[in-house]
Amino acid sequence: MNYRNFPMVPKVIFGRGSFNQLNDIIAPKRISINAPFIFLVDDVFKNNTWLTSRIPTAYEDKIIYISANQEPTTVQVDALVEDLILNTKALPSGIIGIGGGTILDLAKAVSIMLTNKGESKDYQGWDLVKNPAIYHVGIPTLSGTGAEVSRTTVLTGPERKLGINSDFTPFDQVVLDSELTNNVPKDQWFYTGMDCYIHCVESLTGNYLNAFSQSYGEMALQLCESIFLTNDLSTIEAQEKLMMASWHGGMSIAYSQVGVAHAMSYGLSYLLGTKHGIGNCIVFDHLEEFYPEGVKVFKAMKKKHNIILPKGICANLSDREFDIMINISLSLDPLWENALGKNWKKIMTPKKLKQLYQKM
Ligand code: NAD
Ligand code: ZN
Repeated sequence: MNYRNFPMVPKVIFGRGSFNQLNDIIAPKRISINAPFIFLVDDVFKNNTWLTSRIPTAYEDKIIYISANQEPTTVQVDALVEDLILNTKALPSGIIGIGGGTILDLAKAVSIMLTNKGESKDYQGWDLVKNPAIYHVGIPTLSGTGAEVSRTTVLTGPERKLGINSDFTPFDQVVLDSELTNNVPKDQWFYTGMDCYIHCVESLTGNYLNAFSQSYGEMALQLCESIFLTNDLSTIEAQEKLMMASWHGGMSIAYSQVGVAHAMSYGLSYLLGTKHGIGNCIVFDHLEEFYPEGVKVFKAMKKKHNIILPKGICANLSDREFDIMINISLSLDPLWENALGKNWKKIMTPKKLKQLYQKM
């Protein structure tokens, strides 16, 4: 038996206001005055001087504002990388992503593609990256995806939505400052928070479960339940705990896998552009057959926070469109195997999957 040997984020700073220390953290990593730091920042912060005035730029450093309305694509990553190569005097000293999962994934992918030849679509998969990425820092402003801690960056490419999973993907440094999540809209808070909850359920009920994943998964699940089901926490406590739940949820799937909800929501996202958090919620709501206890608790959380999920998003799809979605979803073997076992193809037939999608 060969066990996987995984890297982890080597440095993390935690605490409200820790964002103020960013300059001290990155300054020693500056290679030269010609090698800039590139800050990829969610454009929701564009006119927010409370945040932007604290981004420590010097010399040739650049802030690039990016919309998170669409999830990252391989084309977008390649364009950003080309632009940086053409317009900076030297290879950047570092890439710093400030935002939710979308921006964090972009920062990881750009840092990898600056040192690896070709197009990012060629690296979607497992362990295809050859050269170490440049120094990259993740600063989450929205909690739940676990992208700040994971070994993947999920990109939509021409053929599939799939991560660049590699030892070079994890951030070199993460800054966990829960104050940065202050203005997240309530619905988004719920959707991305539920991404974390669903990571826990899929990991804890999966066939790949082991004591490593279980310990992180149980911790994250407990945090999610206190955040989303009780009235015990202050706003600050809830923000800090969700940040840590996201971290633990991400760690839990590092050594296991996600499951049915993720496999299905990848299909929705590829065909309809449905975003990860809300897509997982739409799907998970109909998965009591696979996750009876998890779905029951999810519905209670939804009710407590008055969340109304969209309905009928697959109502008008053609057979061809269903097939595209079904093919994307069924191509994710490890997710299905984790959820349903080695013989998953006998359980989750294309017909069965179509029936499930038709409910959504
Ligand atoms: P997101 O980054 O797409 O952001 C959702 C919305 O919230 C956007 O409109 C954004 O502008 C807004 N937002 C973010 N921070 C805010 C703040 N502080 N105040 C106000 N608005 C704010 O959402 P997400 O759910 O964090 O990320 C989804 C992405 O993460 C997907 O692309 C998904 O594939 C990826 N993902 C990656 C991993 C991984 O391990 N790499 C895991 C899960 C999901
Ligand atoms: Zn997820």
